[in-house]
Amino acid sequence: MAISPALFALRRKVIENLYEARRLTNDRVPYIKVRIVETEPNVAGQAFLAKNEIHISNRMENWSDLKIKHIVFHELAHQYLGAEHSKKKDLMNPTYQPQLTSEKIEKDFRSLASKKLGNVI
Ligand SMILES: [Zn+2]
Repeated sequence: MAISPALFALRRKVIENLYEARRLTNDRVPYIKVRIVETEPNVAGQAFLAKNEIHISNRMENWSDLKIKHIVFHELAHQYLGAEHSKKKDLMNPTYQPQLTSEKIEKDFRSLASKKLGNVI
């Protein structure tokens, strides 16, 4: 897959979100490999626990920063916090929830982190 400036920018945003997730958990979320890949039409991201990788769809290059944050934090929650899908309108809903704010995404993530890791902050 050719690397365009837009894909570079997307990868950078994904990595910034990973750093943010680490900061929110006092670095309890480890470094992981981020790969921008072609995915099936309805898949925005996938977490691969054994490979310590998350894959993010290259279709995300035109998505808002908030939507990217939602997808990345959702995948990290699957991978590192053992979070499962929820039917609530929260971070773990399998469908993008456009009403979620950046603060709500972080709050949901911290809450899942506290359940899994104990007090992280
Ligand atoms: Zn999911």
